Amino acid sequence: MQLILCHATMRIVMLGPPGSGKGTHAVIIARDLGIPVIASGEIFREIMRGDDPLAKKIRKYVLRGDLVPDEIAIKIVMDRLELQDCERGFVLDGFPRNLRQAEALTEWLSRRGLNLDLVIYLKVDREELIRRLSLRRTCERCGAVYHLIFNPPKKDEICDFCGGHLYQREDDKEEVVKKRIEVFERESSPLIDYYAKKGILREIDGTGTIEDVQERIKAVISCLRRNDPRV
Ligand code: ADP
Ligand code: ADP
Ligand code: ZN
Repeated sequence: MQLILCHATMRIVMLGPPGSGKGTHAVIIARDLGIPVIASGEIFREIMRGDDPLAKKIRKYVLRGDLVPDEIAIKIVMDRLELQDCERGFVLDGFPRNLRQAEALTEWLSRRGLNLDLVIYLKVDREELIRRLSLRRTCERCGAVYHLIFNPPKKDEICDFCGGHLYQREDDKEEVVKKRIEVFERESSPLIDYYAKKGILREIDGTGTIEDVQERIKAVISCLRRNDPRV
């Protein structure tokens, strides 16, 4: 499906358990709409490469599969949203992850007279999540995401986009993955209701091929844009 895209502002949140495809689809949507992806996990992994106290603190939570404390996550993501490239919108991947973060985002937006346009909830069952995460590979240079079977790089262990080396994230080891899925169910699933009540949640079947899911997402975005008097 071809989207005819003009310069409307779009603020989108990707919601879904680890492995549901948030990052994969965030990148495609953002490229099509000409807006940046703000991926909180990617920002934290970048910080974790250092060895200052903040890096050490974040690493402790991420490697256990726990959420980084709200005051850190909220400050880092809100500061990123202040940058100029977010003025025309953004796709948030991995934030918010609990009600406190969602409230902070709502407040940040409303202070600026802004709203979210859409929350995409990708629904995928647990067995499929584990299948996907066990063979996920990530580019150490640009953060691009692959799957050894479902979405392999053209050259083994090398990123198609930047030539960077692909690695397995430490938190994609099986025990941590199980913990992260539990954390999603406990901390993040209340957001489904939170955004449904605001009338901006769209639940999307996240199974099938990446192309299948992308078609479903594009249909929702096209529909939103047709009904939006601003575009
Ligand atoms: P999330 O950001 O929600 O954790 P990712 O986008 O990183 O999810 O996807 C998790 C893994 O599953 C990656 O290895 C990705 O290549 C793969 N993947 C994503 N969507 C699909 C799909 N529809 N079918 C099969 N594998 C997929
Ligand atoms: P996935 O897309 O596979 O769920 P992410 O890259 O989004 O993984 O997140 C990796 C880890 O980074 C999380 O398990 C958590 O420790 C931390 N993290 C990411 N986003 C947040 C957030 N908004 N609040 C707290 N911790 C976060
Ligand atoms: Zn790369």
